[in-house]
Amino acid sequence: MNGNISIMIDLQSIWDRMIEFRDEGERCVKSIAYWREKAAKAEKEAAAAKEGLLRLQASIKEKELDLSEKEGLMKRLDERRGLIKTEKEMAALEHEYALAAEARDALEEATLNDMDAASAMENELAGKERDLAAIKAQEAADIETLTAKQKEMESGAEKQLQRFDVRINDLSADLRSKFRKIISSKEGKAITRLEENTCSVCHTAIPVHIVMEAGRGEKIMNCTNCGRFICVEG
Ligand SMILES: [Zn+2]
Repeated sequence: MNGNISIMIDLQSIWDRMIEFRDEGERCVKSIAYWREKAAKAEKEAAAAKEGLLRLQASIKEKELDLSEKEGLMKRLDERRGLIKTEKEMAALEHEYALAAEARDALEEATLNDMDAASAMENELAGKERDLAAIKAQEAADIETLTAKQKEMESGAEKQLQRFDVRINDLSADLRSKFRKIISSKEGKAITRLEENTCSVCHTAIPVHIVMEAGRGEKIMNCTNCGRFICVEG
């Protein structure tokens, strides 16, 4: 086998290892983002539940004030009863009293309904706060583990990259920049093995004379389509 080819195979395997470290590191970054998002969502939900409850409690207070106002009015009307001189005045008072009593009853009912709703919301809020605490505890622990792993993966990738940079100097100088350019591309594959005279990466049929030339192992040949270095075992 051409010496350059075996160096390329070696470089490719170093690069593949580097990519594995990098991919695993990226998975850690994604998991960290997932936890942060999950915690932020739980926090937002708990805050919204709390805000809803506070609003309802304020409205209950307001109703209670209205209620005592109506009761005050009814009491004052009661006290005036004894001072009424005419039937007309009495009828007006009774009318006013009935309206106040009606309003009081409606307020009483609405307040009771609100209180039931507030107690359900309190339970819901407590549940959300428990969820939030659990998520935050898990988030902290997981993010710590993931961050450590991510750093390890980053340094693993860095080490492979350093190995790559050293090893590439063993390659003939005229091949280095092309090899580096191809391997840095999205697919991360600079060499291709042939599968029945077809490039295993881009699946283009390679002309027979190039396959034969590559097979002799004296010259470095490239895929006529994607430019990857053809590697023929032997
Ligand atoms: Zn190809």
